[in-house]
Amino acid sequence: MSSTLKRSPGRTLGRLGLVLLALSASAAMFAPLVARHSPTRPSGLPLRRPGLGHPLGTDDLGVDIFAQLVYGARISLAIGVGAAALALAIGLLVAVVAGWKRGWAEAVLMRLTDVTLAFPFLPLVLVLAAFLGRGLVTTAVVIAAVSWARPARVLWAQVLKLREFQHVQAARAMGGSGTRIVSRHILTRLTPLASAQFVRVANAAVISEAALAFLGLGDPNQASWGIMLSNASSNNALLTGAWKWWMLPPGFALTVVVLGFAFTGYACEEWADPRLASTSGRLRFLSGPRRRPPTVAPVAPAGDPILEVRDLVVSYRRGTPPAVKGVSFEVPRGRITALVGESGSGKSTIVMGLLGLLPGDPVVQGEATFEGRKLLSAAAAARVRGRRIGLVTQAAMNALNPAYTIHAQIAEAAELTMPPDRARRRATELLGDVGLPASAHQAYPHELSGGMRQRVIIAMALANSPDLLIADEPTTGLDLVTQASILRLVQDLKDRLGLTVLIITHDVQMVLRVADELVILEDGRVVERGDASKVASAPTEDYSRRLLNTRLSPLGARA
Ligand code: ADP
Repeated sequence: MSSTLKRSPGRTLGRLGLVLLALSASAAMFAPLVARHSPTRPSGLPLRRPGLGHPLGTDDLGVDIFAQLVYGARISLAIGVGAAALALAIGLLVAVVAGWKRGWAEAVLMRLTDVTLAFPFLPLVLVLAAFLGRGLVTTAVVIAAVSWARPARVLWAQVLKLREFQHVQAARAMGGSGTRIVSRHILTRLTPLASAQFVRVANAAVISEAALAFLGLGDPNQASWGIMLSNASSNNALLTGAWKWWMLPPGFALTVVVLGFAFTGYACEEWADPRLASTSGRLRFLSGPRRRPPTVAPVAPAGDPILEVRDLVVSYRRGTPPAVKGVSFEVPRGRITALVGESGSGKSTIVMGLLGLLPGDPVVQGEATFEGRKLLSAAAAARVRGRRIGLVTQAAMNALNPAYTIHAQIAEAAELTMPPDRARRRATELLGDVGLPASAHQAYPHELSGGMRQRVIIAMALANSPDLLIADEPTTGLDLVTQASILRLVQDLKDRLGLTVLIITHDVQMVLRVADELVILEDGRVVERGDASKVASAPTEDYSRRLLNTRLSPLGARA
């Protein structure tokens, strides 16, 4: 069965649900126009049968039943929407704080959620309502106080999943604040689930309000459908035959609203992913990136180290053997340094350790200074990340947020240090800097080739004009020609912007095209380092020789 066919029942039900809700909403909105009498004050003799002046007769006090029915829509919808909004706000807050912060906050909040979920819903509502009293607002608060836990649990699970998404991790790596990442990348992706939960709670709230009112815990001064049913029942409507105009209509109206919410909720649950802009064909850029005339590069004094690392030891967990075993190297200002080694030699661990981005509770020892200031603390790393040090993480080009244009994503990275309008101008400038044509600026990530996405990632890393650009495997996954063009771009940007670059790669032959300095790593240790052409032409260590001979890149060694 095609996916369209599979989805269609949900869509049809969703539409039907919206129609039913729209019907109730119109009744609520136009009640004074539709009903001629007051829903609370007597307008005729008590217990009249349906007739000309009173289409559904009057109740025991002589109040028009039709007016009660029409005005009842207001109460049902107000309770449904009010309680659902409140429950969702609480649930969302709990889910995001627990899922994003984790640790003790998560332990406490999720235990509280479990306890709330463990109580049976209706009895708890009844107890609370009896305790807190009557009134519309109280009823909404009582229902919300009992029903936030389910949305909290469902949304929390989703936050846990989303925080592991590569583009969320990349945003963290780029120095984005927690609040920003949560609002941009987490909350937006929670919308479908949150809507489904909203509708679900609204539905439960409408039923609960009717149940409370029917059981005598509602506000007798309000013309709600539950109160109507309760009055009808206490006036023996079932025995006198008055149930046909006194009980059936409010029962039917309740059914309409409940079905309206239920069907809409069904459609919301089928609402799968953020709305990707439909693609009417992939953008194709046949010509290579436009090379811009070189702008004036601030001439950086080459040579003095911008980054110095001394005896760096990193273990992923206390008590486990280190992945990086006492590494020392320098990254001279204004040059391109390549940290090379086979897969698993510890390259990424070094960079992530320096920038405070390792998962879990790692042990990082040794010394590292960036521009003369100590780097090895979470606070120091967070200060420079995304600002003074731009990072292109491994495979980040596959981790762009599919729901935003590349221009918006670069602007977002720039907003770390500038107001939104300047950030947007900066994004346009950066896209030009990395050679993306104007026609691609409003493209979505999936419309671009791998090489172009990598250019976007480089532009994001440069958004806040860092002094050091760290690129972890920037050419992996690209074809050879694109690999070369990305490296040329990095070299070009280094010259034009006066950057210092640290490239991490396993492909020594490829990086030799641009590297000035080489640091060769084997099993968490530096085996050789120095001027790239010298090391490449006359390696002193066996391992360096083997690594340099592993593959002759078709693009050849550095000219
Ligand atoms: P490279 O970047 O050179 O490929 P890595 O820094 O990724 O190497 O890995 C170095 C070592 O650290 C490897 O032995 C790898 O298994 C280990 N390692 C990497 N990530 C983790 C992790 N999250 N937990 C535990 N060990 C890890």
